[in-house]
Amino acid sequence: MMPADETYDVIVIGAGAGGMTAAAVAAAQGLRVLVIEKTAFVGGTTAWSGGKVWIPANARVKEAGLSDTVADAVRYLSGTVPEPGNAGLRAAFLARGPEAIAWLEANTEVRFQPVKACPDCYPERLGATAGGRVLEVLGFDGRRLGKAFARVRPPLPEFTLFDGMMVDPPDVAHLRSVGKSLRSTLRAARLVSRYALQRLRSARGTSLYLGNALAARLYASLLARQVEVLFDADVEDLSMQGDRVGGVVIRHGSRDRPIAARRGVVLATGGFSHDNVLRKRLFPAAAGFVSAANPSSTGDGLRLAATAGAALDTDAISPAYWTPASLFRRADGSRGVFPHIADCAKPGVIAINTAGRRFVNEAASHHEVVLAMLRESHGKPDRPFYLLCDSRFLWAYGLGRIKPFTRHYRRYVASGELIEALAIAQLATKIRAEPSVLTATLARYNEGAKEGREGEFGRGSTIYQRHLGDIGHKPNPCVAPILCAPFFAMRIYPADLGTAIGVKVDAQARVLREDGAPMPVSTPAATIWARS
Ligand SMILES: Cc1cc2nc3c(=O)[nH]c(=O)nc-3n(C[C@H](O)[C@H](O)[C@H](O)COP(=O)(O)OP(=O)(O)OC[C@H]3O[C@@H](n4cnc5c(N)ncnc54)[C@H](O)[C@@H]3O)c2cc1C
Repeated sequence: MMPADETYDVIVIGAGAGGMTAAAVAAAQGLRVLVIEKTAFVGGTTAWSGGKVWIPANARVKEAGLSDTVADAVRYLSGTVPEPGNAGLRAAFLARGPEAIAWLEANTEVRFQPVKACPDCYPERLGATAGGRVLEVLGFDGRRLGKAFARVRPPLPEFTLFDGMMVDPPDVAHLRSVGKSLRSTLRAARLVSRYALQRLRSARGTSLYLGNALAARLYASLLARQVEVLFDADVEDLSMQGDRVGGVVIRHGSRDRPIAARRGVVLATGGFSHDNVLRKRLFPAAAGFVSAANPSSTGDGLRLAATAGAALDTDAISPAYWTPASLFRRADGSRGVFPHIADCAKPGVIAINTAGRRFVNEAASHHEVVLAMLRESHGKPDRPFYLLCDSRFLWAYGLGRIKPFTRHYRRYVASGELIEALAIAQLATKIRAEPSVLTATLARYNEGAKEGREGEFGRGSTIYQRHLGDIGHKPNPCVAPILCAPFFAMRIYPADLGTAIGVKVDAQARVLREDGAPMPVSTPAATIWARS
């Protein structure tokens, strides 16, 4: 082991939600903490995400007048996800989750509110709730960070308006109603002028929401406790003291620098979405290589943990959180990945397979839609799937990165991202499906669609699906006929939002070795903790 340049109590590798939360907790206990981040920004995938957390029986549920109990959550999870090998983990999550939220709210800048109308994904199951378990982060004014705002990773450009304006979810409905409702038009005008003023002083809008607000709030909490964050520093290795992790070796610029950790090292490097070797090994073959996660998720934490002797936990029911995604090129030449998290449930779009047939309830969760794509692919990657809609849908809801009310959609047709045809048979030919099959698929879907009926898969049959649809669309928020030419198709791929395989841990989150023994730590409070 090289002699250490410096010594901290705790070293955290990775400045996403996981790492910054761990750093905030350690700093609040008076420990000297160093966060090492390999990019120039805090936020990782967190800054691109919805930033929502699922915490049953949290205190905010009760304050919002909703009811929930841990016993109901146990019932819900038992009917939804098989018990993990270590049953204590689930119990610990359910028992300590509300406490963790309360701690963050009392000791950091992080603030949540319950999404009252966001039901559990499988609302028909025992113990499910109609809302309140999902907590969303309150918006944050980036100006409060001063110059440090420039260190918060910007959101995905496709999720902003006018090149940098984030939108609070409740304002989406107002923006959709511009010109139809005076209240909404005034609200939209206020939002746009506020943004214009912000842009006079900042490279992007400073009103932050969703995961970007979470990243900014956590970063503000670290700055308030004078936690050091070392940017552009890649952790090369863990340094061992016997079989205990005693610190890290980082590459900063051109030099290797050893740093010691008295109490522990936290691995929070954000998963392996962009490591093709691990993807090949741990994902089903049909999953391919498309990821909506930040490219910094290259599995570093897993590799570091393995070198220290940690065991890999491959027990997960699914190795990733899935979403269908479309691909495109940005004006600057970079490849964009648009996660179709919300648009598949809107009324008037369906998903079809290579033969031109529907294969899934598109209004189910994005995870379920991809599970169906994977089943349909029979182990083969790159099987074509498409979203199909008409011109009325494209105008009202947009599709993928194409925003609603887009007049000049032809540039997306020209780039090959959007396939356009005046008739369904012609569209079928363009996507190499059998015209008669696609025509029959559409006829079957359209049959009862005007009355909101969709008998084949039951679109809109649960409150979860209706919540993702367009609540203002009657009688079924998830069903409308597809009739108005031109018709459009957009290619979608199975993609991940993040990975769900990490190192083996016990109920105290201590990392386990292959022989099942916890890795030794210097004090009970210090541990290697790895999410990825
Ligand atoms: C569009 C989208 C929406 C999502 N919405 C939600 C949601 O609403 N709710 C939810 O629970 N999940 C959601 N997810 C998933 C969620 O965002 C991630 O699971 C979560 O943010 C991961 O947090 P993290 O702290 O583990 O990793 P990250 O936020 O990715 O942070 C990891 C950090 O570690 C750094 N790093 C990596 N390797 C090294 C190294 N060797 N040395 C130093 N630093 C390193 C990275 O640069 C990065 O900054 C969503 C994902 C996407 C893409």
